Amino acid sequence: MLELAPEDILAALKHRGARRLKRVALRGNRSTIWSLTQGGTVLNLHEAYRFAPDAVLAAFALIVKKGGRRCAEVSEAQRVVREWPGLRPGLEAARSAKHSLRHRGCAGPGESVAYCCGTPRQRAYIRALYRYLNETRFEGALPDDVPVRLSSRMTSRLGHMTPGFTRQRGRFVVEIALNVDLMLEGNGFERLDTLLHEMAHAADYLTDGGLSHDEGWQAWARRVGCRAESRYERPVVRRRRRSDPVTRVPPLPPALRERMSLWRKTA
Ligand SMILES: [Zn+2]
Repeated sequence: MLELAPEDILAALKHRGARRLKRVALRGNRSTIWSLTQGGTVLNLHEAYRFAPDAVLAAFALIVKKGGRRCAEVSEAQRVVREWPGLRPGLEAARSAKHSLRHRGCAGPGESVAYCCGTPRQRAYIRALYRYLNETRFEGALPDDVPVRLSSRMTSRLGHMTPGFTRQRGRFVVEIALNVDLMLEGNGFERLDTLLHEMAHAADYLTDGGLSHDEGWQAWARRVGCRAESRYERPVVRRRRRSDPVTRVPPLPPALRERMSLWRKTA
């Protein structure tokens, strides 16, 4: 699935004839899925539309072109964007999350069904690291199947945990995402610390519904041995340009390498 930035969506809609459009803004609203403001030049979209497929983009282009006028074509376009299946998880996450956890950090609701920019080897690495930390630091308190992905879209942030909630499932973790810069050489401490930080959010949320850096999260942070601070002031090695691909797979801790060979035998 392709993750689109607001500029990508703007370009796509203009390309499809929505020439009046000047800006696209993404919002983690609880119920409003889109609105056209400032004389039809600004399109506010729910964050879930970052993963909108072509058909949905085409429908939005039509809505903007017609500038909110009512006709059969516009009604049909409105139905397409409303009924797109990717919207539901984003809305549910937005409704369940009381606080946004943005900082270094811990993005808020709606960032579900996301795209991992990592290579297969990087994905295997990050999964192994998650399992290892869950076992050795969290005493297996977290589910084994929490999606952990790498993101090339985060700018200043290093990671986030996205909380989810449905009536059937109760609280669950939609995903943990890490800034792909953390895979660069020199970020060994930050990589481990950020993953533990986000896993501590997951544990706090799953056990007590916590979604902040208050006492509940701090207790987990101390217990698992990451810095119990929300802000990150240490320098982090960054890739030179945001478009530079990061394919490095850091070496695994020796104890983890041993465990992985065990997992392979028992798998
Ligand atoms: Zn945090």
